[in-house]
Amino acid sequence: MDELQQNAWPLSFELFPPKTEQGQENLSAARAQLARYKPTLFSVTYGAGGSTRDNTRDIVLDTRSAGLEVAPHLSFGGDSEQAVLDLLTTYRDAGIAHVVALRGDLPAGMGGAMQLVHANELVAFIRQHFAEHFTLHVAAYPEIHPEANSYQDDIHWLGEKFNAGASAAITQYFYNIDAYWYFIDQCQKAGIDQPIVPGIMPITNFQNLARFSLNCGAEIPRWMQQQLQQYGDDLDSVKKFGIDTVSRLCEQLIDGGAPGLHFYTMNQVEPIATILANLGRRATDQTT
Ligand code: FAD
Repeated sequence: MDELQQNAWPLSFELFPPKTEQGQENLSAARAQLARYKPTLFSVTYGAGGSTRDNTRDIVLDTRSAGLEVAPHLSFGGDSEQAVLDLLTTYRDAGIAHVVALRGDLPAGMGGAMQLVHANELVAFIRQHFAEHFTLHVAAYPEIHPEANSYQDDIHWLGEKFNAGASAAITQYFYNIDAYWYFIDQCQKAGIDQPIVPGIMPITNFQNLARFSLNCGAEIPRWMQQQLQQYGDDLDSVKKFGIDTVSRLCEQLIDGGAPGLHFYTMNQVEPIATILANLGRRATDQTT
């Protein structure tokens, strides 16, 4: 690949709202470093049930003030329509042009007290009140959402998110590339032709990844588990294996025609910087 091609594919970075002042400082530093890769946007997650509402909003507005394109994640959680409208109005007035529209999950302990609003309904709600102002991104699951009635049913509901007005999807992370290509093929057969951007989760800690993967319907293939387990407390080997494996996954995705890469950064620059270097993606000197 020549340099132009190396930097041609779209890149985006997901941040999460930290709880501590130190975490906020780390986020600002990480964001400035990651901005040097000229991402199309940063996205900022939204805690289950709206638990990070104000923190997410503040980071989103701060990111926009820094001159960066930003997409707040949003779900109804337990909020009223008016509260969601107010938040979206704040975003629109701050010049924010993207939203990642989600159903979200029930926060621990809420049980049946809260009714979740499906993402296609949130997309329709945003379109109804803000017309075409926002570019709407939604979630997709190459290994299928854990609550889906069936493989085809989950694709049907993804199609409904696009029918309601979403423009693109970002996937749950995966390590089995065949699951992604098969999913894309099945989506196309179901009439979905919008971009479905692969979500990429770097590997730094096997225990955390294994726990998280169990809940979110992402599989760590057996050949990877075996090696990661074998490294035990040898974190350097875990990281090296993670970087090699994820770099190869990204390279195959780009070479195979994926419409970009979305990194789950966990507010860390490493190992993403190393993965991007392996892909020949260069950072610029400027942060904005
Ligand atoms: P939906 O699209 O509503 O789908 C949820 C389930 O219901 C699926 O099984 C689907 O098949 C089914 N379904 C969909 N629509 C309907 C319908 N109308 N009627 C009946 N069944 C339906 N979580 C957070 O808490 N905060 C975040 O910031 C966050 N960001 C994420 C970003 C990405 C890129 C991804 C992939 C996930 C993210 N999540 C986040 C996790 C997400 O909230 C959960 O996976 C949640 O369980 C589903 O959200 P969804 O938007 O995919 O839901």
